[in-house]
Amino acid sequence: MSISNIEIVCMECGKEAPINHEESTENWTVYGTTCEECGGKTGAKFIRGGERDETSNS
Ligand SMILES: [Zn+2]
Repeated sequence: MSISNIEIVCMECGKEAPINHEESTENWTVYGTTCEECGGKTGAKFIRGGERDETSNS
């Protein structure tokens, strides 16, 4: 099972969300909910890398 790539980016300008270093741990990265650049809200964006879907029946 492969994990989808998810990026946390600003919904307004697309810039990468700032990392909240105070709440992040070694195993979990916490991103800020507000863009540093434009003040817009950040959210998860799914990245599709053109890989084959391995769930096909054969
Ligand atoms: Zn922004």
